[in-house]
Amino acid sequence: MEKINRSLNKLANTNQFQQRYEKLKQEIFENEQVRLFMNANSSTVTKEMIDKNLGKLYEFTSQSNKCDKCPSLDGCINMMQGYYPKLVVQGKALNLHYEVCPRKLAEDEKRKREKLIRSLYVPKDILKASIEDFTQTDNENKRLSVLSKAMSFIMEYEPSKRQKGLYIYGKFGVGKTYLLGAIANELAKRQISSLIVYVPDYLRELKGSIGDNTVNEKIEMVKTAPILMLDDIGAESMTSWGRDEVFGPILQFRMLENLPTFFTSNFDLNGLENHLTFSQRGEKEEVKAARVLERIQYLAEPVKLDGVNRRR
Ligand code: ADP
Ligand code: MG
Repeated sequence: MEKINRSLNKLANTNQFQQRYEKLKQEIFENEQVRLFMNANSSTVTKEMIDKNLGKLYEFTSQSNKCDKCPSLDGCINMMQGYYPKLVVQGKALNLHYEVCPRKLAEDEKRKREKLIRSLYVPKDILKASIEDFTQTDNENKRLSVLSKAMSFIMEYEPSKRQKGLYIYGKFGVGKTYLLGAIANELAKRQISSLIVYVPDYLRELKGSIGDNTVNEKIEMVKTAPILMLDDIGAESMTSWGRDEVFGPILQFRMLENLPTFFTSNFDLNGLENHLTFSQRGEKEEVKAARVLERIQYLAEPVKLDGVNRRR
């Protein structure tokens, strides 16, 4: 009796197993990608291969294909996050190759780009700026000339070729810093790196480092950046020291080495010259101011950025 029971049980289990197996198989073959694969490989894939490799087929269908079942990269459901399986015929077997999924590709690309843009004291959200947005928000086409100048710079850039950057001036909040970010992003898409520096904070930091021997290093880094963007030059009273010991040598070096340099300012060039002329002590230092202005004009072409104040 005992023996019969055992045998019956075994049979029932096998039946159940058989049913489950068939159901699984059916599910697998309902998968569109599997069907496409089978159609494309009908001459090489045999029934035997399918039975032998059903596990692989199941592994394939249970995972996300090019992100179709995942909400996001962090929410990736696949065995290897950021990779999706691809069915391949390998000799007499079916196998899976794991490939980088579209979301991870995009994320990697974004990371790589962000690495190309270094920034000092510039808000990180500026790194999201894009030329497309800059264009789209230009309802009255007031900014086309600035845009076309920025685009020609980007298209024509070649290392160590002499190329003028832009001196972008305009009212507070019109999007000067945003435009720098957009240019840097567009350059990064082309694997060109740039450095954006918010000048007032940079000067503050340099002053704070006078005692600790890192001043030269900090100046060196800005001096030698392949493409430099000096944001808000003249935003607050630049000291004679900043003008003569920091920006003088930086701009001089960049002229000699043909390193493109961008500036933004609330002042046009005359306004900036005037601003740089008067020292904190109220002395008039016309010659020194004129020298810095000459360098800026050698390095960059002035363009006015019009528009409304976007700051809230
Ligand atoms: P500026 O440097 O001229 O004072 P900003 O570049 O800081 O002005 O721009 C002011 C605000 O408006 C910022 O928050 C910036 O992100 C936003 N902004 C500027 N231009 C655009 C744009 N074209 N599309 C979307 N946001 C923008
Ligand atoms: Mg700004």
